[in-house]
Order: sequence, then structure tokens, then C-alpha cells
Amino acid sequence: MPTHTHSVAAGRPLVACPDCDLLHALPDMRGGEKAVCARCGSELRANQVHGIQRAAALSVAALILLAVATLFPLLVFELEGREQPGGILSAAEALWNVGYPILAALVFFTVLAAPLMKILATLYVTVPLLLGHPAPGTASVFRLLDHLKPWAMVEVFLLGLIVAYVKLSDIATVEIGPSLVALVGLMVTMTWAEASLDSYDVWDRLSPQRRSGDPTGVAPERLVRCHACAQLSTEEHLPCPRCGAALHHRKPHSFHRTAALAVSAAILYIPANMLPIMTVVYFGSGEPDTILSGVETLIASGMLPIALLVFVASIAVPVLKLMGLGYLLLSVRRGSATRLRDRTRLYRLIEGVGRWSMVDIFMISLLTALVQLGAIATVQAEPGAVAFAMVVIVTMRASHAFDPRLMWDAAATRQET
Ligand SMILES: [Zn+2]
Ligand SMILES: [Zn+2]
Repeated sequence: MPTHTHSVAAGRPLVACPDCDLLHALPDMRGGEKAVCARCGSELRANQVHGIQRAAALSVAALILLAVATLFPLLVFELEGREQPGGILSAAEALWNVGYPILAALVFFTVLAAPLMKILATLYVTVPLLLGHPAPGTASVFRLLDHLKPWAMVEVFLLGLIVAYVKLSDIATVEIGPSLVALVGLMVTMTWAEASLDSYDVWDRLSPQRRSGDPTGVAPERLVRCHACAQLSTEEHLPCPRCGAALHHRKPHSFHRTAALAVSAAILYIPANMLPIMTVVYFGSGEPDTILSGVETLIASGMLPIALLVFVASIAVPVLKLMGLGYLLLSVRRGSATRLRDRTRLYRLIEGVGRWSMVDIFMISLLTALVQLGAIATVQAEPGAVAFAMVVIVTMRASHAFDPRLMWDAAATRQET
């Protein structure tokens, strides 16, 4: 059950809502309880019973599963008596070999490097903390962990793998490799570890959260929320005393950065859809496919659920995301005071959904790795895939640059005048 917090009682930890900046005093929370903002409904803290222990244990398991998932093939493609195994490393390597180093680096980073760094960072923070002595640089490592979160895309890669599997099953035999089970396990343990780690608890152990009834008697409206560790401080533009991040009342230049990135993504969306993203050559015949013609091919082959999935992830999500961001920016410009709660929720949705558009890129990387059988069958990545990957990255940056508190500020300014 969510606990709504209203009044500022003495001696309680103070937190400001990340999305609307309303100040709350956290109540005593029991295990598994969640505190949400009384005004916009965003999460303030999700308390966990033995969350740090669980995150540490799950991260050890995740590390082993990541090693297995990386070292052994995920899928094996069989055609005309020839076999071609493919996995995470060979997917990145194949893109590199066919002349797409940017895509190769992107696959390597999002499926292997970022998850590995995330697991190691979690262990570095949690294990010494459990032993009672935080490791040196824990604050910096914990901040890094937060930055890595959107870029570790094991679950999206798994979906790309399913699409690749379905597409290939249509033309040949595809065997599921032993490490696919490890990849599924990796996804589960990483998601569970992230959900177990109550970041409020970690930061509060490193240096206690500001409490109400503070003797310095600073007016609440003068407090600045650290975007990295959520500590409340009084000195804007100085490093946060707890984590060292630069303190800002709002994300710097949020409006213009979001607008510039959204426009860039919209421009990139044109070549991403006009240019072919890959060519499948099968017994000497095959034409380059765009994202849309790839969806049409799937429909023609009777794979409607997969066609729908690719359409939503690759075509609908980027467009709706950009339209959503445009609407939010416009509402700030107009000083709109209506549907603030809904607009904050829309922002949360836009922030969360963007990474799923990487499905097609992962599908292409796996097909390129698996289908390299010379004259019999080959899959080649095409320039549209680079443009499309840029669309996904730039829209992720755009939604990250937007500060939802601008909407609440704009509405408050309007009401005052
Ligand atoms: Zn709020
Ligand atoms: Zn901080």
C-alpha cells in the first residue's frame, strides 16, 4: 500500500519529489512499503526488507550468469548442413566486420559492458556497506550506477533475440543454445537486484538525509534537491556535500536542450525510415529492407504478433515519444495548469519506454552474426540501422534532459499572476 505523506513532522527525513519538487517528511516505513508524492504520485522511496543484502546476493548470481551468457552461443543457425553459432560477442563482432563500428560498439556497450559495470558497481557499493565500512569512492560509484541504468539493455536484447529467432525459423532450423537460459536468468536477477536496492537507504547510510526541525532554520523553498542522491542542500551551484554532484535548482537549460534533441531525433527519423536497415540474401536473391518493409514481410509470412511488436517498438514508440515531448514542452511554454498529474505520468512513461526501440538493432546484430553462409544465405546491416540507432539514443537523451518540475513551476507562476 502506498503511504501518502502530508505534514512536515519534527525530526523526520525530508525529501523533495523528483518530479514536482513538493517537500515531504517521510513517515516511518515498514518493509516493502512505498512512499509516493501526495501531489503527483511519483515514487519518493520504496523501502525494502534486507534490500541491500538481496541486491548483493543477486548481483553475484548475475555475474555468473553474465559470464555463461557471454561465453556460450545463444542461438545456432543450421542450413544446408552448415552451422553458425551466435551470441552477444559475435553479434557485436559481426557488425564490426561488416563495417558498422558504431552499431558494434552500441551492442557491446548496452548488452555486455553496461550490465557488467552495473553488476560490479552494485557489488562495490553493497558488500562493504553490509560489512559496516563503505568502500572509498562509494558515492561516485553509486552515482555511476544510476547513470548506467537506462543503458543496460539485457531484457531488450532478449526481445530482439526472440524476433531474430522467429524470422530465422521461417527459412531454416534454429537451435536454442545452452546459454539462452543464462540470459533469461541474467535478466531476472538484474531486474530483481535493481528493485531490491533502496537507494534512499544506501545514501542515508553514507550520510544521513536532512531532517525536519533542522536548527539552521532554512526556509523549505530555499532547499535544492540533489539530482543524483536526493539530499536537500541550500547552496546551489556548489557540489553536493553528500555525493559531489553539481547542485541545480532545475536541470540546466532543460527546455532548450530537450527541444534541440527532440528536433534532431525527428530529423534523424527520416533517414532511419527511408534508408534500408538490412538486406537478407537467401540463395542469391533478396532485397534491402526498411523498417516498414520488414514489418510488411513479417505480416506476409503470417507472423502477426512479431510484426506488431516490431511496429510498436520501432515505428510507433519513437513517434509517440517525440510527440509526447513536444506536447510537454508546449505545455510548459503556455504555462498550462491543467492535468499536471497526468502530464507528469506521461513524462515517466516517455522516460521508461524509449530503450525498447533498440529491439530492431539487436535483431539485426544477431541475424548478421548468425547468417554468414556465403552464397547460401547472408544478412548485411545497412545505413538506415545507424540512423535508427541514433534516433533511439537521441530521444533517450531528449527525455532525460526534460525536467518535469518545469511544468509545475510554469503552472505556479501562472496562478500567482
Ligand atoms: Zn510530486
Ligand atoms: Zn548529492
